[in-house]
Amino acid sequence: MRIQQLWVGWLVLAASLAAQPLQVVTTQPDLADLARRIGGEQVSVHSLTSGTEDIHLVSVRPSMLNRVRKADVFLQIGMSLEHSWVPALLDAARNPRVRPGGEGFINGSAGVEAMGRPASLSRAEGVDLHPEGNPHYNLDPERVRVLARNIAAGLSSMRADQAAQFTANLQSFEAELDAKMAAWQATLSPYAGQSILETHDTWVYFAERFGLKIQARLEPKPGVAPSAGHLGSLVEPAKLAKVRVVIAPRGKTESAEKLAELIGARVLVLPTSSTTDGDTAGWIVFMDHVVNSLAAGLKP
Ligand SMILES: [Zn+2]
Repeated sequence: MRIQQLWVGWLVLAASLAAQPLQVVTTQPDLADLARRIGGEQVSVHSLTSGTEDIHLVSVRPSMLNRVRKADVFLQIGMSLEHSWVPALLDAARNPRVRPGGEGFINGSAGVEAMGRPASLSRAEGVDLHPEGNPHYNLDPERVRVLARNIAAGLSSMRADQAAQFTANLQSFEAELDAKMAAWQATLSPYAGQSILETHDTWVYFAERFGLKIQARLEPKPGVAPSAGHLGSLVEPAKLAKVRVVIAPRGKTESAEKLAELIGARVLVLPTSSTTDGDTAGWIVFMDHVVNSLAAGLKP
């Protein structure tokens, strides 16, 4: 009896050890949401940013180092989106498991087709924030499908005995994505072919997916603030193209407001990722918000 109890106790202990969730650290909240959906109870996920910062320019804090030091998995968007801070963070954290090449490093952009690769990498005109092409593929549902598959594959290689569960979770996400995609297409289809202006080189994947035209962008180069002369040069072409909407990121709306007034358009402040809290928490909820806001803004 006693031996039997010991044996049962040992089995319970072994099972609880095996079920320790993987500590997953992500650079931003879309990744965290997908990792939770796919990893389920096998993961404990923390996003280093909340979705309200400029993801290109994040200051590394000591708390981030501690997270990465203890991580089993590190998940990034990639395509140099985080290049101003992630390589330094991974160097400083000295956790070989989660560095590129380590078993716990997952690059979300593996196999994602990039748009907008620069013809040359000259930095003469200032910082180029998109040296590998446009990294804002989290705004395209079909590229997010590839990202979700990368996460499922990465987690499966870490925990092979749970691969079937990760695949099932991925399939349920993809089924929801298919249904949502049909709804989003229906919401935006009345505005197909319309021209929009954007502040940063952010919406190229989204625009292509939903049939919108980016007539121009306010930043002459990603990360370079527009001069008055550059803004002035955008006015007549935007009027000709009947632009109704100028998209601006949170907290960076001044130039967009000036230009919108000159061309008789409205400024639409759109988040560029989901957030850890609030009404854009969760990637699907965030995308719902973007699609609905754009449809409202594009209405004559
Ligand atoms: Zn960017």
